[in-house]
Amino acid sequence: MNTNDYIALEEKYGAHNYHPLDVVIEKAEGVWVYDVDGNKYLDCLAAYSAVNQGHCHPRIVSSLKKQAELVTLTSRAFRNNQLPLLYKELCELTGYQMMLPMNSGAEAVETALKAARKWGYKVKGVDENSAEIITCKNNFAGRTITIVSFSTEEQYRDGFGPFTAGFKVVGYGDIEALEKAINKNTVAFLVEPIQGEGGVVVPPEGYLKKAYDLCRKHNVLFVADEIQSGLGRSGKLFAYQYENIKPDMVIIGKALSGGCYPVSAVLSDKEVLGVFNPGDHGSTFGGNPLGAAVARESLKVLVEENLIDNSYKMGKYFIDKLKTINSKHIREIRGKGLFIGVELYPEAKGARRFCERLMKEGILCKETHDNVIRFAPPLVIKKDEIDWAFGKIEKVLMMD
Ligand SMILES: *Cc1c(COP(=O)(O)O)cnc(C)c1O
Repeated sequence: MNTNDYIALEEKYGAHNYHPLDVVIEKAEGVWVYDVDGNKYLDCLAAYSAVNQGHCHPRIVSSLKKQAELVTLTSRAFRNNQLPLLYKELCELTGYQMMLPMNSGAEAVETALKAARKWGYKVKGVDENSAEIITCKNNFAGRTITIVSFSTEEQYRDGFGPFTAGFKVVGYGDIEALEKAINKNTVAFLVEPIQGEGGVVVPPEGYLKKAYDLCRKHNVLFVADEIQSGLGRSGKLFAYQYENIKPDMVIIGKALSGGCYPVSAVLSDKEVLGVFNPGDHGSTFGGNPLGAAVARESLKVLVEENLIDNSYKMGKYFIDKLKTINSKHIREIRGKGLFIGVELYPEAKGARRFCERLMKEGILCKETHDNVIRFAPPLVIKKDEIDWAFGKIEKVLMMD
């Protein structure tokens, strides 16, 4: 079977809730992926930052295999010998007192929203059923009905109502709007320190710190969704560290397992995660020993292989090089670490056609929204690989 055969099957039997590029990948290693026709590509999306450690990292794959032969799932009805070690190692790495494990990012976001509401009622003293959570325009936090309830993307909501109440949306970067939106019922402010799906949008410098201070002043939880921006992607462990704040809750997922298995988590302190009592919340697979073993190794790889530092340095190198491209299509180049967005003018007729051309040149990228190309390769990328990619990217961006 070749590329077209696989695509035909997918189009016939699969629900069409994605519009992938026409490349059918059969294996991958580090920053490289290979398709069924024998072509090789540099992966500049890294599964939306889930494979920060590089595809099929040997240490992570080996931890997966080893644990798979011991025990994979106990459910939380019983304890296992991997989860407690993940708790300890993740809390020590991040400086939080507690964590709650889930599987997908959306589930972890839901968990944080539930924790914030319960904290609001039990600790802050908000009247029953009146808790409010503030989020930002252009946000992305997953696809559940509650999460799309506060999306500002029309398509994410169209056809899926009625929605969950209790959310307010303010402009990303707009401190005054945030201050105005806060009232006695506000329990949390949920924000991505850098918006990923929104187009790698970096907020104005000082914004997160000001928002954080407002939250302190009004006894509101500052909740950072670091599912995409976290775990080294931005050149720091967490993107919020650029502003010297410590959120009340941090949500992580994606690279927590190096792309080998779905693992997500909410990090916080006892005052917040302590609101959960047995039976309040759960997940059959959440905290399973296979996921826990994989997450433990993924975190070790991130730290021991200095991938956070490499992201910082290679990101700077990549952005500086991209800024030398003199293309009429480029409106702005922005980002932190290896979390890079190239925004094109509307006259460029969409980022998609550039991504399709890049694919022909051996580079896999995906447009976000209509006009942004995101460059977010695995954090193991080396200088010579960036140099190789740069030549192709420059050529494609110079086309008409
Ligand atoms: C991907 C993402 C999510 C959702 O994670 P899933 O695993 O796809 O459910 C939530 N928030 C942000 C910022 C993300 O990038």
